[in-house]
Amino acid sequence: MKDQDVWKEGSLDPKDWSNFKELGQKMLHDLFEYVENVGDKRLWKPLDNKKLNQYQMSVPMDSQTLEQCYNDFYYDILEPNSPMNLHPGFWGWVMGCGNPIGVLAEMISAGLNSNVIGGHQISCKVEEQVLQWFKELFRFPSESSGIFTSGCSMANIIGLAVARNQAAGQMIKLLGIQNLPNKLVLYTSKERHSSIDKAVDLLGIGRKNLRIIPTDDQFKISIEALEEAIAEDLQNGLLPFCVVANVGTVNTGAVDDLEQISEICNKANLWLHVDGAFGALAALSDELKDRVRGLHLADSLAFDLHKWMYLPYGVGCVLVQNRQAHLEAFSSDGDYIVHKEAWFSDFGVELSRGFLALKVWMSLKAYGVRHFGQLIKKDVDHAAYLAKRVEINAHLELLAPVSLNIVCFRYAGKSLSDEKLNQLNKQIVMTLQLEGKVFPSETLINNRYAIRVAVTNYRSQTEHFDYLLERVTELGNRISK
Ligand SMILES: *Cc1c(COP(=O)(O)O)cnc(C)c1O
Repeated sequence: MKDQDVWKEGSLDPKDWSNFKELGQKMLHDLFEYVENVGDKRLWKPLDNKKLNQYQMSVPMDSQTLEQCYNDFYYDILEPNSPMNLHPGFWGWVMGCGNPIGVLAEMISAGLNSNVIGGHQISCKVEEQVLQWFKELFRFPSESSGIFTSGCSMANIIGLAVARNQAAGQMIKLLGIQNLPNKLVLYTSKERHSSIDKAVDLLGIGRKNLRIIPTDDQFKISIEALEEAIAEDLQNGLLPFCVVANVGTVNTGAVDDLEQISEICNKANLWLHVDGAFGALAALSDELKDRVRGLHLADSLAFDLHKWMYLPYGVGCVLVQNRQAHLEAFSSDGDYIVHKEAWFSDFGVELSRGFLALKVWMSLKAYGVRHFGQLIKKDVDHAAYLAKRVEINAHLELLAPVSLNIVCFRYAGKSLSDEKLNQLNKQIVMTLQLEGKVFPSETLINNRYAIRVAVTNYRSQTEHFDYLLERVTELGNRISK
């Protein structure tokens, strides 16, 4: 079929909308069927080379029918796709499992194709509304500011940029950080996420001025060491300006003591930025919120919605207490005075932005916050269950305390050296990943190789954790023989 038969002349719209709508419905139907049965699929398998070669084709210069294109998509992409983080047995890294309402909302966002720069558009009002909800949930004042981002890396960059500019003063826009009389110093723990290092690079702070503070036996930042480091830098004429606290470290899910850190920050006039990528969401559960208390003490709070709020990628958020400081960091030379109300583009790096807030708005309304709180609690309960089963199993060893939803453990049945155990446990993880039924990832805890299970997956059932324990023990016994 020629393109002029399918598409309106000089247009991308179809000639026959009714046929197009029918096919659209079929696509949605097939997609939800895939999601519905995701637990029956093999979680992950390596892509075979024959298949990979098929993806190398020359640029499609001429049109094809949508049916043909969809068939190619279905058989070449959807069918061979590994469900990975959609699967109930997936606990690798920190990955969200999405949700079906989010899928529909994403589709509608794309259909409306709203550019959420700012101004009087429904899409902006929706984003403002959802930001307001998160301020309420995290006990931020309603006049504080915020913006949705592509993820928590970007949210961290924005928070730290505001912190830097506050400390440096307005001349920073003219002179950069080259001409500051004192070097800016940022503090965070050795358990921080790598996006903090990236932000330090991008903001020109320099890794030499990133103080990596040791942690205690709970993997929380050592308050004593933090205070000492700040005092020493002050004595040496440097300018301590910010502490990045972790609420849910990526390795073990540890939560820094926000109340104590906030006190230190207040005394020394430092900005408190909280990286709460997934951990902050524990505040949605009444039973868990005390474990992450003090979020409202943050000057800026970064968190993700595509991890522990189970929204489709990618959406994160940053809230900033001092709206004026936030605005000054990102509005380009008083543009915000021209349009009377500040625009979203005055609160972040990007100008053009998609309608990220719709999937958040729809999911929060349709499921309700209480339901999200219960799912988060279920994940935490599963982590606690796994940890308990590990502790009572003579072959297994827990390698870190479980603060929230992350369990780090290893097979340690025989009296083997750490080095041998590291190899053995790595082999266990690789085998499990290849088998495609459950999928932990890995990390090092005090130089010991850990099987790491991060539960941000409402589809997981207790039986999946039982299977993991059984299989780890079996594999460990067999390999150590
Ligand atoms: C995932 C994560 C980030 C980065 O978030 P992205 O959404 O992947 O950009 C930052 N901090 C922590 C603790 C994380 O787990």
